[in-house]
Amino acid sequence: MSNVAAAPSSFWLASLGHIETRRKLDSDISVDIAIVGGGFTGLYLAYYLKKHDPALRISLLEARYCGFGASGRNGGWVSALVPFPKGKIEDDYSLEMARAVDKAMVDGLEEIQRVIELEAIDCEFRRGGTLFLARNKIQEERLKNNVEEENRYRHSPPHVWLDSGELSCHLKNVDALGAAYDEACARVQPAKLVRGLADVVESLGVDIYEDTSVVGIVPGSLTTRDSFKVRAKSIVQCTEAFSSSVTSPIGGSMIPIYSLMVITQPLADSFFDNVGWSKYETITDGRNLIIYAQRTDDNRIAIGGRGAPYSFGSKLHARSERNPKITDLLVKALKELFPHLKDVKIDYEWGGAIAATRDLIPNIYYDEVLGIGASYGYVGDGVTSSNVAARTLRDLVLGEEDTELTSLPWVNHRSRQWEPEPLRYLGVNGSILVARTIDYLEQRDVEASFLKWVLRALVPK
Ligand SMILES: Cc1cc2nc3c(=O)[nH]c(=O)nc-3n(C[C@H](O)[C@H](O)[C@H](O)COP(=O)(O)OP(=O)(O)OC[C@H]3O[C@@H](n4cnc5c(N)ncnc54)[C@H](O)[C@@H]3O)c2cc1C
Repeated sequence: MSNVAAAPSSFWLASLGHIETRRKLDSDISVDIAIVGGGFTGLYLAYYLKKHDPALRISLLEARYCGFGASGRNGGWVSALVPFPKGKIEDDYSLEMARAVDKAMVDGLEEIQRVIELEAIDCEFRRGGTLFLARNKIQEERLKNNVEEENRYRHSPPHVWLDSGELSCHLKNVDALGAAYDEACARVQPAKLVRGLADVVESLGVDIYEDTSVVGIVPGSLTTRDSFKVRAKSIVQCTEAFSSSVTSPIGGSMIPIYSLMVITQPLADSFFDNVGWSKYETITDGRNLIIYAQRTDDNRIAIGGRGAPYSFGSKLHARSERNPKITDLLVKALKELFPHLKDVKIDYEWGGAIAATRDLIPNIYYDEVLGIGASYGYVGDGVTSSNVAARTLRDLVLGEEDTELTSLPWVNHRSRQWEPEPLRYLGVNGSILVARTIDYLEQRDVEASFLKWVLRALVPK
């Protein structure tokens, strides 16, 4: 192992201590399959291919270290959520297809749990479901409608509405009128999951090269920044928000959007005596500008949210990973949810980029003639989607084209291009501003119908 200094990009990674970087690629090599990117997608893909055929020669190339990207930084929700409305799939395909998407996600959660247990990955997995708290009358109505709408697509477990009395079996003394509850969600310490997965994959015989940036892919080979070549029959790019860092003949269109997080110091036992939260449910509310929270094993609250400004030209900047204004908004959201949480101290703040396609549908594809594939565009719901995508890519790479997974609507789906700048900048940042204003008004029981119409026009459904 080389020992390249690796600054932790999240509380989760920092809490693992010093991260020793694996060896970098320092010669030309030939393998059967090359995978670019050591996040959940790339690692699960390596895992499933190697499990299918241990004789396959697989190399995974990672620019920094496994888990450096969103996989080591996220909110740890292993949910059945997708970033697009399933009604769109029903309209464009069929009711059965929309149900198949939901089933694939619930199965994805089960599969992640199976792998964690089978491989004994210590990642603080707890399956307590997720609560969508209604913090005002307008959110309550919207969330009740969502329960009905989601159950149209759900086989099992059903989404349920909890009134304030029923909610108190999960959370007490919280500022909410009730909540929608979905049992199909777990929480993890994500850096432990991604780093544990990398160790498992390596133990199966996959060669992982870290500190190895890939700059270009052509049919049959890829080239690294140090000008080494990897020849491979199949090459799959799993670089999510970083996807434009690699040139590839199959291209694609996505933009990076920053999601930011903070984590509190460990809270006193008296706090949990007061609020319950004994099943470690993940928590959000019905606002438009999403927030997401989890209780950690050491009794902290990790809370994240959207709303960080989009950078002109879809640029990735380390400075976009922290934003005092968003930190303040997250702390405010936390105190609003738990009104008696007055003097909460924040231990760490961080952020990371997620990838959004123009129609919010992930793009999972493989061109068998070129032998090149890719997967990206999970927005903020990639912990489970990356597993679903990896098993789908496994089927595609192995030439098994007619499986349950390969018939899902995001397979070989190519979203349309984002608008050119400055329209893109104005549209994305405009939608953040509009969503924040609607949330402000809804908290004051104002419907904001016109702004909702504007938001629908900016964010495609
Ligand atoms: C703050 C935050 C909170 C989130 N919360 C949740 C959540 O609670 N639940 C949920 O479902 N989803 C969440 N997400 C989204 C989820 O984390 C991602 O969708 C998922 O981790 C993506 O996995 P990935 O492997 O596709 O990409 P990544 O984890 O981003 O991995 C891509 C890897 O590719 C590497 N790479 C990039 N360029 C190159 C190159 N040129 N050569 C070689 N390697 C390269 C990167 O270093 C990186 O390690 C969140 C994301 C963020 C940022």
